[in-house]
Amino acid sequence: MDLLKPVVRHLTFDYFLRRDGYRIEPFVNELAGSQFRSADEIRDLQFKKLLRLLSFCRDHNKYYRERFQQAGFDPSAIKTLEDVTTVPVLTKDDIRSAGDELFSDGYSRGNTMHNRTGGSTGVPLHTYMDIPAVSFKKAATLRHNTWANLTPGDRLAAVWGDTEKRQPLRARIRNRLTDRAIYLDTLKFDEAHLARFVAEIRRYRPPVMMGHAHSIYRFAEYVKSQSITDVSFQGIITTAMVLSEVERKTIESVFNSPVFNRYGCEELSIIASECEAHEGMHVCAEGLFVEVADETEHQPGRIIITDLVNYAMPMIRYEIGDYAFTQPGICGCGRGLPRFKEVVGRTADFLYTPEKKPVFGISILDTFVIHIPGLKQVQIVQDRFEHMDFYVVRDISFSETTLSLLRKNITDIFGRQMQADIHFVEQIAQTERGKYRFSICNIPTEQLP
Ligand SMILES: [Zn+2]
Repeated sequence: MDLLKPVVRHLTFDYFLRRDGYRIEPFVNELAGSQFRSADEIRDLQFKKLLRLLSFCRDHNKYYRERFQQAGFDPSAIKTLEDVTTVPVLTKDDIRSAGDELFSDGYSRGNTMHNRTGGSTGVPLHTYMDIPAVSFKKAATLRHNTWANLTPGDRLAAVWGDTEKRQPLRARIRNRLTDRAIYLDTLKFDEAHLARFVAEIRRYRPPVMMGHAHSIYRFAEYVKSQSITDVSFQGIITTAMVLSEVERKTIESVFNSPVFNRYGCEELSIIASECEAHEGMHVCAEGLFVEVADETEHQPGRIIITDLVNYAMPMIRYEIGDYAFTQPGICGCGRGLPRFKEVVGRTADFLYTPEKKPVFGISILDTFVIHIPGLKQVQIVQDRFEHMDFYVVRDISFSETTLSLLRKNITDIFGRQMQADIHFVEQIAQTERGKYRFSICNIPTEQLP
């Protein structure tokens, strides 16, 4: 019996949050109720929050006041959510060059929470969030966790990058009394670490596993290869976007558990996640207004997000650099929250044919990683429209057939003009946070169509 669970759930989980100044309880209650409101009611709620935020920015944020003036935008004149589209989009470069000028009156680095992201260009992006906004985001994350059967006090199997650095005692105690996570470090994906993780899961029986989608898939492949059948979960939360249909099916069957895909980023926290109906990902609309611009039936649209709760460094029409398809209609779960059908990836994840036609990385992931026998892992790096490098980790069934199938698929997808160099490597380099990237486009942005 897990004696610590009720202690963590009712006592220590909240204690550590309060000690850091976060009060999440009011938001937890608000979000539990609002999710089942109708789509129209949720839009009304968003509109009220948007109006309040925009008026605040006009009065207390010099950066946006000037932006509004230049665009001829009057916050008090808006009639619908979509009226905010008069304000120009805020790009990552805008945020980098504005720096601390983006702070609203009364906010500074001293009274906000700092977020730093690496970004695909390698130039870090620094953003700041006020404490009530962080509390709201924490409550939102908890709500989306419960959809996947993870509640405070539960143990968690976590598959993240770079978790093995020896943590100070205080951090370890805190983990035991809050997240209760056991870790598999995606930067150390060898047999010994995988076997140890399996042993820990058997011992602690966490109900939920959470982590980078592709790493969880590789863990599933390992479990399958060892004929292990007693590692199962009630829910698996996958993040970091690259989750193909084949990967999902493999994970679900190996661990006998539904997958709940999730989308978020450092600067906004959780954005959307799957519910128990598994019909797309619900946006956390009580805290975010999400636009998907220029979407067509065959082409995903650009995701543009207005954060409705962060007043310290407001993000109004932030172009995050990801693309998505929206999902119309009402979800089977009854929640009125709007949905993404699919988030297809970042600008930098797109590859191009020599004719400059975009190819979404995720749409060809299964072809290269799963359907060609003999390939354990693949990474494609494109530097010019007519040239790309394939980094390939072979498995024991690798043969001449593997190589000819690889060549054939490259020609089928990218055309005869594409030159591809194939390199055999021991492992694929990961990002600094231990994420795997299947496709990387290094063609300079200004040359892209
Ligand atoms: Zn739903």
